[in-house]
Amino acid sequence: MRKIPKKNLIGIAVAVALIILIAAFISVARDSTGDESYEEVNFPQKETELSAVPDEYKNNVYLSFRGVGACDKLLNKVHVTVIFVEDSKSTWSESDKAEFKESCESTFLRIQSDAKAYNKDLKITSDYRSTKINVPFIYAEHENWADSVFASLDMSAYADANLSLEREYGTNEAAIIFALNYEGRSFTANSENTEYTIIFDDAPAIYHEICHLFGASDFYFPKEVEEIAEEHLNGSIMYDCYGGKVDDFTAYIIGWKDELTENAESFLKDTMHVTEEQLNEAKVTS
Ligand SMILES: [Zn+2]
Repeated sequence: MRKIPKKNLIGIAVAVALIILIAAFISVARDSTGDESYEEVNFPQKETELSAVPDEYKNNVYLSFRGVGACDKLLNKVHVTVIFVEDSKSTWSESDKAEFKESCESTFLRIQSDAKAYNKDLKITSDYRSTKINVPFIYAEHENWADSVFASLDMSAYADANLSLEREYGTNEAAIIFALNYEGRSFTANSENTEYTIIFDDAPAIYHEICHLFGASDFYFPKEVEEIAEEHLNGSIMYDCYGGKVDDFTAYIIGWKDELTENAESFLKDTMHVTEEQLNEAKVTS
């Protein structure tokens, strides 16, 4: 056996010690931002989700979020946690909070009665939390930002944020809304695990964003899709964020309909050529 020079051995020992130290640091950093018992869960789309869709339309990009993610169907018992976030830019007075809460509660009532019109059971409960963080909101880093908010409230983060709220409130689904009190473009993050909406206080489109959480897509871009939606899904809340209503296709996506109507099928037929890349591109520029 070749003898390794002593100098090299010391080098190897130092390198091994460094690797152990770095690994320990990473695991401490992860644990300190969330609940140690969080679960890594993925929610892929089950094949049965699209059983009502004719085979030739199954690959349509507008179907890809049906029943996917931490919030899958807007049915049965759904809990919504609203978090008022303060930072260097966002401050919430008690009256601002009360006004926002009022918009949320009246929206939840509207959503419940709309579900009822589709003969579906839906009971929305809610809770409101407040926090202050030092991390400013940056769109490109919204996931880290969300984790900072969860950590500031001792809430579970990573893939467990929604699930732990479901367990806490004993509901089928748990939705999370972050509220920032300045102007900005509200959006919903659909991922395979944690899902949440970030709403800015300029005319919050709460109903529209909740539809996103449960898989619905925007129809106001690209322009061509808006025209197709206007033709087949007239008055949809997914292009008319304030005055619109849940259309036949969106109702299918969020679980209020089990079958596709003729209109919904026409929308699928006319949007078969739209790709995910196209949508991401249009999202950034619209
Ligand atoms: Zn939208």
